[in-house]
Amino acid sequence: MAAITASEKEALRQKYLQERDKRLRLDGNEQYQRLTGRFAHYLQDPYTPRVEREPKTDHVTVAFIGGGFAGLVTGARLKEAGVTSVRIVEKGGDVGGTWYWNRYPGAQCDTASMVYMPLLEETGHMPSEKYAHAPEILEHCQRIAKHFGLYDDALFHTEVQDLHWDAERSRWIVRTDRGDAFTAQFLAMGTGPLHVPKLPGIPGIEDFRGHSFHTSRWDYGYTGGDPYGAPLDGLADKRVAIIGTGATAVQCVPHLARAARALYVFQRTPSSVDVRANAPVDPEWFASIATPGWQQRWLENFTAIQTGAGADEDLVQDGWTDLARRIRARIMALPPEDVTPEKMRAAFEDSDYEKMEEIRARVDAVVADPATAEGLKAWYRQLCKRPCFHDAYLEAFNEPDTHLVHTDGKGVDRITETGVVAGGREYEVDLVVYASGFEVGTDYTRRSGYDLTGRDGVRLSEHWADGMRTQHGISVHGFPNAFLVQPTQGANLISNVPHNLTESGRTIAAVVKHALDHGYAEVEVTQEAEQAWVDLLLTHPGMLITSPDCTPGYYNNEGQDAGRKAQLSVGYPAGAAAFFSYLGQWRTSGDFEGLAFR
Ligand code: NDP
Repeated sequence: MAAITASEKEALRQKYLQERDKRLRLDGNEQYQRLTGRFAHYLQDPYTPRVEREPKTDHVTVAFIGGGFAGLVTGARLKEAGVTSVRIVEKGGDVGGTWYWNRYPGAQCDTASMVYMPLLEETGHMPSEKYAHAPEILEHCQRIAKHFGLYDDALFHTEVQDLHWDAERSRWIVRTDRGDAFTAQFLAMGTGPLHVPKLPGIPGIEDFRGHSFHTSRWDYGYTGGDPYGAPLDGLADKRVAIIGTGATAVQCVPHLARAARALYVFQRTPSSVDVRANAPVDPEWFASIATPGWQQRWLENFTAIQTGAGADEDLVQDGWTDLARRIRARIMALPPEDVTPEKMRAAFEDSDYEKMEEIRARVDAVVADPATAEGLKAWYRQLCKRPCFHDAYLEAFNEPDTHLVHTDGKGVDRITETGVVAGGREYEVDLVVYASGFEVGTDYTRRSGYDLTGRDGVRLSEHWADGMRTQHGISVHGFPNAFLVQPTQGANLISNVPHNLTESGRTIAAVVKHALDHGYAEVEVTQEAEQAWVDLLLTHPGMLITSPDCTPGYYNNEGQDAGRKAQLSVGYPAGAAAFFSYLGQWRTSGDFEGLAFR
C-alpha cells in the first residue's frame, strides 16, 4: 500500500473526530444496566449445578479470591514454594474464571496460545492451535488446578461478601454467601478485569417475551450445539438478534450466521477486524522449540516486542507483535535528527493510519454488499478500541440471512415484547443475544462485590477514593498480608494479561515464603513505599488508549475524563519489560524493599 499523504492524513483525522462525536454521551459508564434485581437471572450459571455444603469456619494459610488464571498461577507458585494450605474461593462452578463463563461458540484466545496459556511448560501441555479455542483453555485451567493440588480445598459457587482484618490474630476473616466465616493468614485477590456482565441500558429489556441471554452465560439448551463447535441446530427456525460487535460478537457471529433462520447484528461502533490466520501447532516443531525455559523466553520475547524494546527475532508472530513491529519499524526509520517525541508520535500515527486503511480495504475485499461493507469500517485509531482478528466474521455478512443493522453510533433504541428497535424500525426476533460486554470503569469494590476492612477499620474503598494506590500493583498500605493479582500499576501489559499474573504470582509466593520461613505473622507495604510508587506512576506520560480523541469505549472510560483515577490507572513508566525485570530483581534480592515484616 502506498504511503499516506499529508492531506489524506488530515482528512482521516477529521473523519475520526466526526465518528467519535457521534458516539460521545454524557452518561458514560452509567449508560449500562447492572445485572441486579430483576436482571439478576442473567447471571445464573448455566453450566454447573450448585451443590449445597456446610459452611467453613476453619483456618487456611492463604485464601485466594478468584479461580481464574490469577488464582491458578499464584496458587501454583505457592504450592511450589511449599505452602500447602491454599484455598481458592470462586463464584463459578469450577476453575477457569473468564474461560469458565465464556463458552459462547467460537470463543478463542486472541493472543498466541504459546504465551497466553500459563504454565504450559510446568504442566507439559502443547497447545493444539496457534490460537486455542475456549474448551482447550478451560481444560488447561483444570489441568493446572489438578497438577498443583488446587482443587483440594477449593470452594466453588461461593461469593465473598466481606473481608475483615483481625489485627489481634493477624489474619483475615473471610465471609461468603454460603455462610462461611473462615480465617486466612494471607489473602490474595484475582477477580479479573472483565467479569461482571452488563446489558445496554435501553428500555424494555424486561418486556421481551422471547428468549435472551448474555454471551458469558450461553444457553446451549436453547441454541443447540456446544462450545466445541457443533452446529447450533436449535436455531434453524429462529430469528436471532445480537447486540454488540466487540471482540465477543466477532467470534460468535459466524456461528450464529451459519445456524439461524435470520440474524440481525446490531452495531453501534464497528470493530477493527484484522487477519487471524489460525493454524494447528505442529508437534515436531513444538518438540524442537520446547527446550527448558522455553515459555519464559517466549513471554519475554513477546513483551520486548510489544513494549518497543525490540528483539532480534519475533518468536510469537501474532496480531499484537505484528502491530508493535510495524510501529517500531516506522520509528526506527526516522533519520537521527528526527528522533524527537513529536516526530516519533507522528511516525506512530502514520503507521496506524496505514494499518487501519488496510483493515478497511479488507472489509471491501471480503464483504459483497457495498453498503454493508461501508457500515463495517472502523474509523478510529487501532488501539482506541480492542483490536480484533478473525477470518470468518466479515465473511458472515455475505450469508443471505445475515443483516447488519448499523445504528451509526446511536445504538439500539429499545426492546419490545417481540423484538429490537433501532433507527425507528422494529426487528421481530425469537432470541436476543447480548454481546454487550463487562463492567470496566467502575470501582474495584463494586466489581468485586466486596470491600476490605483493613488495619484500624479503614476500608479499601476509602483508601482508594481518589484512585488506586499500591506498591507494584500488588500490596496496599493498611491492608497487611493482602495481595492483588492484576496488571494495573505493575506492567499493565494488556496484550497478554497472563504474563502480568504469572509475575505477580511468583512475587507473592516469594513474599509469603519469606514471611513463613522467618516466622513473621504480618507483612505490609510501608506508607512511604506506597507513596513513592504512586509518585513514580504519576511521571507516566499517559497512555494513548486513554486519549480523548479516541472513540468512546471501555479503554477510555467511555470517553469521559476519569481525572486522577485515570492518571493512576497506568503501568510502570519505563514499560512492561522493564517492570518485569525490576520486579524479578526486587523479589530475588531477598530485601523486599518497601515491605515491613513483623
Ligand atoms: P465490549 O465491551 O468490547 O463490546 C460491547 C459491545 O456492545 C460494543 O460493540 C458496544 O458498542 C455494544 N453496545 C453497548 N451498548 C449498546 C447499545 N445500546 N446498542 C448497541 N450496541 C451496544 O464487550 P465484549 O464482550 O465484546 O469484549 C469485552 C472484552 O473481553 C474485549 O475487549 C476483550 O478484552 C475481551 N475478550 C477477549 C477475547 C479474546 O481474547 N479472545 C474474546 C472476547 C472478549 P460500542 O463499541 O459502541 O460501545
